Amino acid sequence: MIVASTPEPVHFLLVDDLPANLLSLEALLRREGLVLLKAQSGEAALELLLRHDIALALVDVQMPEMDGFQLAEFMRGNERTRHIPIIFVTAGSADAQRRFRGYEAGAVDFIHKPVEPDVLRSKANVFFDLHRQRQQIAAQRDALAAAAAALQKADSYKDQFLAVLGHELRNPLAALASGLQLLERRPERGETIRRQMERTTFHLSRLVEDLLDVSRISEGKVSLKPERIALDPIVESALEASRHTFEAAGHVLTVTLPEEPVWLDADYTRLAQVLANLLNNAAKYTPPEGEIALVATVADGWVDVRVRDNGVGIPPEAQERIFEAFAQVDDHRSLAQGGLGIGLALAKQLVGLHGGAISVESEGAGKGSTFTVRLPVAG
Ligand code: ADP
Repeated sequence: MIVASTPEPVHFLLVDDLPANLLSLEALLRREGLVLLKAQSGEAALELLLRHDIALALVDVQMPEMDGFQLAEFMRGNERTRHIPIIFVTAGSADAQRRFRGYEAGAVDFIHKPVEPDVLRSKANVFFDLHRQRQQIAAQRDALAAAAAALQKADSYKDQFLAVLGHELRNPLAALASGLQLLERRPERGETIRRQMERTTFHLSRLVEDLLDVSRISEGKVSLKPERIALDPIVESALEASRHTFEAAGHVLTVTLPEEPVWLDADYTRLAQVLANLLNNAAKYTPPEGEIALVATVADGWVDVRVRDNGVGIPPEAQERIFEAFAQVDDHRSLAQGGLGIGLALAKQLVGLHGGAISVESEGAGKGSTFTVRLPVAG
């Protein structure tokens, strides 16, 4: 999308050795969106030319030291200034015009003294409008380039995601296929095999549910079923859903909740899903026997639920991106345990639907991470 913004002011440069002439030119040309820079000598003009993006230079031909033509020749000799249009203001005859040989590089025009205000104004307006158009084109070009870069990035995420998805679907499917074979060959181990297959099926269906959630949320099709509920049972449900990951890694988990119940208008299942996801992540991205803490505090009508770990941490440049769908930190992929980079994107959307916000703090790789979910307390 190309957003219209207030255009940058257009700069004209007025060069004349007589201050009175500069003032009268200024009075004549003044208009909104136009900045008139004034110089009383060629040297002063060159300085301004190098500092500003000039749309038109109005140059008096007769000046002591560097005259108008010499200034123009300097301008034509410099890459930055060679295409700036010039209007010479001259008291001389048309013959004098032949002295200037720089026509091929950019627009040049002559105005004779005494200056006719209407003529000068309409000439100047042409250059003002041209410059504005050029600014608009440049802004559109930049916006298009940014959109193209964003599309390219999204496209590479998608390619990466498809590769990861293919991989993550293949593993459980292979496990189910070999489970079926084993059932046939080793019927006496049926119960164990069946339980393994059940776990794999559960994992697969969660993956598919998460995928469907991402598209449902981005199409605005997810609606909450809010109820007045205390934070404690939500946390308990999240702990229950993530317990196996903690136990498998031998982490120490501490939970600190406010003594008084914290009431929320929330969708129990969805909030528990968010917190379980943060706890699961803390467990996945922390080396065995790590320390993980869930702490909730209340202040000014908000509750902050923090999930802190002392694990692999998140580099600063990735901290914003991890909340986008399918985004994963490259170095973490081997730890993701089949995750597809969806959990935090879902968490962000779901917390947003609750009128809250989610954020992350990490001092970088190896320094642990703290995720904070901030939610409004029910009034
Ligand atoms: P998944 O864990 O399935 O890859 P998420 O959306 O839950 O997807 O997380 C996105 C990425 O954020 C992860 O791939 C990981 O790189 C990073 N991340 C999330 N939580 C943590 C954490 N507690 N510590 C370090 N990195 C994390």
